[in-house]
Amino acid sequence: MSNADEALEELQGEHEALLSFVYMSPVGMVRSNAKGTIDMLNPLASQLLMPIVGDQGIDNIFDCLASVAPEVRNLVESFRAERGRICEHHRIFVTPAHERAVVLSCSIIKLGADLLMTVLSDVSRQVAAERRARQTESWLAAIYTNVKDFSFFTLDVQGRVETWNDSVERVTGYSGAEAIGHTLALFYEAGQFAPHRSPEHLAFARDQGWHVEECWCQTRAGERYWGQILVAVSREEDGEFTGYTVVLRDITERKMTADNLKRLLTTDHLTGASSRAHFFEVAEAEIARAQRVGDALAIVMLDADHFKRINDTAGHLAGDEVLKRIVSEAKMLLRPQDMFARLGGEEFVLLLRGADGQQAVQVAERLRAAVEAARIATVAGELRVTVSLGCVTLSESCATLQALLHAADRALYTAKTAGRNCVR
Ligand code: GH3
Ligand code: MG
Ligand code: MG
Repeated sequence: MSNADEALEELQGEHEALLSFVYMSPVGMVRSNAKGTIDMLNPLASQLLMPIVGDQGIDNIFDCLASVAPEVRNLVESFRAERGRICEHHRIFVTPAHERAVVLSCSIIKLGADLLMTVLSDVSRQVAAERRARQTESWLAAIYTNVKDFSFFTLDVQGRVETWNDSVERVTGYSGAEAIGHTLALFYEAGQFAPHRSPEHLAFARDQGWHVEECWCQTRAGERYWGQILVAVSREEDGEFTGYTVVLRDITERKMTADNLKRLLTTDHLTGASSRAHFFEVAEAEIARAQRVGDALAIVMLDADHFKRINDTAGHLAGDEVLKRIVSEAKMLLRPQDMFARLGGEEFVLLLRGADGQQAVQVAERLRAAVEAARIATVAGELRVTVSLGCVTLSESCATLQALLHAADRALYTAKTAGRNCVR
């Protein structure tokens, strides 16, 4: 046998192995050309596609999926490479999300210029399990978290209060007779009510099985509380939608604790400036945002001049007072959207959203002058301090936080060598 024959035989053997693999495969497999015309599919694939196509016949994979996933054709057409994964585990909801969903997972591999392999599997159980897991989680959270009180009631299919119990009266102050027939809007704080809010909340719940929202609420007596409203879809055994179950909780205390905790985590405890970690987090996000929308952004680095001398002559406590004063001067000057953070020691950084180079220098100069003019009362008597500042703006050559900080540091160094108490 010649080499060519051997190679051919091997190829045929491989082909047969592939065919039997495809045939036995526990997932649906469909082979087609680039236009979707099917030349081979395994029994499981036809079983999965049959309910979608009805008596239309299974000839073209895109046509088969058109009624439930028209995007598949576009996905394939817009894929330019000669081979590769066009999509992976793309979810196709054969029945709408809010019914007992049939969900297919669809992966498409381009094997050649005119050859596609579509792999289908039924992931309905998996999707249902995920949804249940999400619900369980939120129910557990509802039980375990530190709450003052919670109430439990139901809404009909239109979203109007249907049944009521004492727990609700305890939290909201409304009696059953007063609440029945009303929507969730009854509980929102006056003035915060937006007509679309309650329907939107319910639509999300319909779509995902449940939905949680937090907002200011108001008791019947007009007392304000931070409420968490969890809405879950109720169904009969056969899956028929029968309305909603609602857990409404007063979590004011938890919100206050959370806000407090957030403040602790994001601010520097000595000066009240933003913390270094918080700065890095916000700056990364802001840089990404500015690049996405093409906004300007500037960073200004600030370092106190001869600070060692202040510490050495007036003492550390006085030095601390000086640092606090630098921060309060900055806070008075800055807009609410700007950020002033302590990087460490007597080094600070300013994040100026939307500022170009000229504006950044202007802000820096004003801050420099304000600090210079300050007469700082400390335990060691009145002190004065100056600061040096280096400004940079986001640009193509300076496009990452690291590059910006580095450049700002260099500008600051130039300011120091130029005699301090100046902006570069
Ligand atoms: P330069 O103008 O070149 O910046 O001189 P400098 O003395 O400020 O330079 P250097 O960075 O060497 O000194 C910074 C000093 O700041 C050293 C350190 O003792 C002091 N320092 C750092 N953190 C604190 C703080 O939290 N409180 C006080 N009081 N001093 C601090
Ligand atoms: Mg210094
Ligand atoms: Mg320093």
